[in-house]
Amino acid sequence: MPYKHFEEYNIQVTDDVKDRYKHIIEDLGENTQRDGLLKTPERAAKAMQFLTQGYNQDPVEILKSAMFKESYNEMVIVKDIELYSLCEHHILPFFGKAHIAYIPNGQIVGLSKLPRIVDVFARRLQVQERLTEQILDCINDTLNPQGVAVVIEASHMCMMMRGVQKQNSTTTTSGFRGQFEKIETRNEFLKLIGK
Ligand SMILES: [Zn+2]
Repeated sequence: MPYKHFEEYNIQVTDDVKDRYKHIIEDLGENTQRDGLLKTPERAAKAMQFLTQGYNQDPVEILKSAMFKESYNEMVIVKDIELYSLCEHHILPFFGKAHIAYIPNGQIVGLSKLPRIVDVFARRLQVQERLTEQILDCINDTLNPQGVAVVIEASHMCMMMRGVQKQNSTTTTSGFRGQFEKIETRNEFLKLIGK
């Protein structure tokens, strides 16, 4: 999935965040004047703006920009959508895959828009549970399908690198609306994504 190159950084935000990063790095015991760290506060400030760019994007607009009348009314599945987010408790990454399905109700949406809205919500400070619900509700409320399902499987750096240090655990969250609340439909979807 090609990501849109993100180069327009807010100069004011970059300056403020850069300044704070410099202090944080020094508070942690490093010397911000050494070669390798000279430009680190600025790079980190830009990286964080990139990783939280979802605050400036409207997922509803993205979906609406590619909705088409269509009579197809079988399940549409986009699986294995790469996902990178930041846990809001530790500001450490969590990453994995999202699987999305919906059953149209007179309208379909351009397939590439589903990974895009995953990114919009993932590029904010998040918890996996809310991320799942936000994707689900956004598709449900905008596209009005007969049903929508979202499953996210992710590994959390805050568990892997610190705390309990459980390096092979993954967390699975899921949400279902409409037709997917029926057990047969839900099972068909789970089978198709290999669960
Ligand atoms: Zn965390």
